[in-house]
Amino acid sequence: MQCIVNRRAQFLASHRYWLPELSEAENMAKFGLSAKFPGQGHNYVVFISMSGELDEYGMVLNLSDVKHIIKREATGQLDFSYLNEVWPEFQQTLPTTENIAHVIWQRLAPHLPLVRVQLLEHSQLWADYTGEGKKVALTVRSHFSAAHRLAPNLSAEKYGKCTRTHGHNYHLEVTVEGEIDPRTGMIVDLAAVNRVVEDYVLELLDHSCLNEDIPYFAESEIVPTTENIALYISNLLRSPIHDLGVNLSRVKLFESHELWVDYNIGETETSLTVATHFSAAHRLAHPNLSLEKNLEIYGKCGRVNGHGHNYHLEVTLKGEIDPRTGMVVDLGALNRVIADYVLEPFDHGFLNKDVPYFAEVVPTAENIALHITNLLRSPVEELGARLHKIKLTESPNNSCEIYCTQSDTNTVNAVKSEPVLV
Ligand SMILES: [Zn+2]
Ligand SMILES: [Zn+2]
Repeated sequence: MQCIVNRRAQFLASHRYWLPELSEAENMAKFGLSAKFPGQGHNYVVFISMSGELDEYGMVLNLSDVKHIIKREATGQLDFSYLNEVWPEFQQTLPTTENIAHVIWQRLAPHLPLVRVQLLEHSQLWADYTGEGKKVALTVRSHFSAAHRLAPNLSAEKYGKCTRTHGHNYHLEVTVEGEIDPRTGMIVDLAAVNRVVEDYVLELLDHSCLNEDIPYFAESEIVPTTENIALYISNLLRSPIHDLGVNLSRVKLFESHELWVDYNIGETETSLTVATHFSAAHRLAHPNLSLEKNLEIYGKCGRVNGHGHNYHLEVTLKGEIDPRTGMVVDLGALNRVIADYVLEPFDHGFLNKDVPYFAEVVPTAENIALHITNLLRSPVEELGARLHKIKLTESPNNSCEIYCTQSDTNTVNAVKSEPVLV
């Protein structure tokens, strides 16, 4: 099964949005404060995503090699640089967030099996490039605070406290897609995107009670769940974003750090993610290899007594929104499934010794994610949804993702899994 591994890297650099063929007044009119002399700097963070089959050692690629390639071919050259001058690509096309992502892809593609380059200028703005010509996605993050309740059509018994009026700080990520302008490096006027989000969404929803104040919910049977709010926001934004010359591609709405919804424009299904974590020890060593060989392959991770991590786990499902509940899945039931099949057997344990599966299989993040995928697939189906993705973050620098497609068979664990009972 294909696995995506993500490696984080960072660099500090400055840039200036300035085209020498334009006058000072024209540059200021076009780029605003970003045209100011001598430019401005950012702590850029980049996530390089690569895809491949898991090898016999439980890895897609040796991450230590990957780290060196990223530094040698990209971040090492960009760190402490003035981007406009460091690479010839940025003399032709300005080093905007979207263009830097695009050029880093071009520089790394000959060396690594890339599937995505994500570049964050800061925590509220990033670009994703996936190798499709000049097409780039740009995401802006914002938030609003609102009240809601899931009554009256749901029983308090089943939905508990959510039937009382309560509130959240919703975090909203709006992703637009377009083609990079060959001179300015931009797909769209970013300030205009932020204005659209402000005018069409934040102004309306911030400090409101969704059930009472927003006619879309107040005058219908539509329940203001995260799923339905994300869908509503996408309807508000689609046309004004299109008027800016780009397309709305995704609305991602976080009700909390543990629960969010992705609504991809054009898809009939909605995806819902719950995030959780477990703390566990592991040791990376292949049972058939010598200690010397294991240390050569896995480095410090092969030390005999093991080490541990706080694993951050994201479980993403896809499904249709149930019109009665406004939900893709019964969240309480989903959380119970994750607790029974994953957290109970994995948390505060030594994976190699306490989880029988890892007696023979090396518990790399990739293999853990694959095992979790196989454990959760059928119980999630029984809840009426489909497991779409498992993402496991082992450390700030390393994470991996397993996507389940409908045609996949459970390659490692074909038998129906049962929760571990204690
Ligand atoms: Zn709520
Ligand atoms: Zn480790």
